[in-house]
Amino acid sequence: MSSKSTIQIDITKALKSKISDVDFENLTFGSTFTDHMLVCDYKNGAWQKPEIKPYAPFLMDPSSKVFHYGQAIFEGMKAFKDENDEVWLFRPDENYKRFNKSAARMAMAEVDEDIFLDGLNQLIEIDKEWVKKGLGNSLYIRPFMIATGTGVIASPSAEYRFVIILSPAKSYYSGEVKVIVAEHYSRAANGGIGAAKAAGNYAGQFYPTALANKEGFQQIIWTDDATHTKLEEAGTMNVFFRIKDTLLTAPTSDRILDGITRKSLIALAEKSGMSVEVRPVLVEELLESSKNGDLKEIFGAGTAAVVSPIKGFSYKGLYHELPIASDSFAQNLKDQLNKIQYNLAEDTFGWTVKV
Ligand SMILES: *Cc1c(COP(=O)(O)O)cnc(C)c1O
Repeated sequence: MSSKSTIQIDITKALKSKISDVDFENLTFGSTFTDHMLVCDYKNGAWQKPEIKPYAPFLMDPSSKVFHYGQAIFEGMKAFKDENDEVWLFRPDENYKRFNKSAARMAMAEVDEDIFLDGLNQLIEIDKEWVKKGLGNSLYIRPFMIATGTGVIASPSAEYRFVIILSPAKSYYSGEVKVIVAEHYSRAANGGIGAAKAAGNYAGQFYPTALANKEGFQQIIWTDDATHTKLEEAGTMNVFFRIKDTLLTAPTSDRILDGITRKSLIALAEKSGMSVEVRPVLVEELLESSKNGDLKEIFGAGTAAVVSPIKGFSYKGLYHELPIASDSFAQNLKDQLNKIQYNLAEDTFGWTVKV
């Protein structure tokens, strides 16, 4: 697949690139940004002409609704450079669709496809030098939207700002991850906004995660809010369990983010002939399979790390360590996915899009 840029954008180039100041071998995830950003404002019921301009702060009115009522959503995606210096996006249409689902749930304006996708293409084209070759290197893409309408009356904003910023990234290693299975706090509730990539979902997670950190655990496995008996997500990732040789993950719902990594791994696993079950996974099953030795792996799945293996979990104060996985499913699926993303293997799914 390839997409052509057609939309009219006002482009102002940076006078001088910052790229020579960047140590690409020692990047902290998400803290270095490229020379340019895309900005597009929504007002009077319409999206205005998008602009690509030098990465810089912008001014906001203190009464902007995002500060008071939290209308803020985002996406996380990546671009990869192959051996021939071609840059590839991975399933960008899925991020675009999900962005507008989040927008609808948060009563925000939906973004036009050409602003999001063509705009992204043109932005990456301009900052192409920032995408480095080699397995593990990528360009992390952060589209987001905030409510810029003013006034502290509690109602949806009539004005929005859509922005895309780009951040070069090295392969993401989360270190050893031990998790606590949530018994009290919840990430998302039935009928809530858990399925939207809403900024507030993250804010609500920081406090319980900090409590877990104090006890020596890096993340929380979120359970359903009503009964805390079903395993739903791991931190800000979807979660997979391998019991014997079956891969298990929860079905998406309005409490679970419909992860693109999650659905890509399910497709790859099925294609590789692995046994995959998408169904509610119970805390009870986790305890039972850990006890009898059937629990082989737990891993988170998301764009930043692809997979993040989990070493052990705590439940009701008891810690259960997993065996070291031989022939790890997580590693196998990560390798398969990376090969497609870096154009090292044939993309039979039609997932990759050339910039
Ligand atoms: C973004 C996100 C994911 C992973 O989604 P990907 O599309 O795979 O990056 C999973 N869970 C939550 C809560 C998220 O915000």
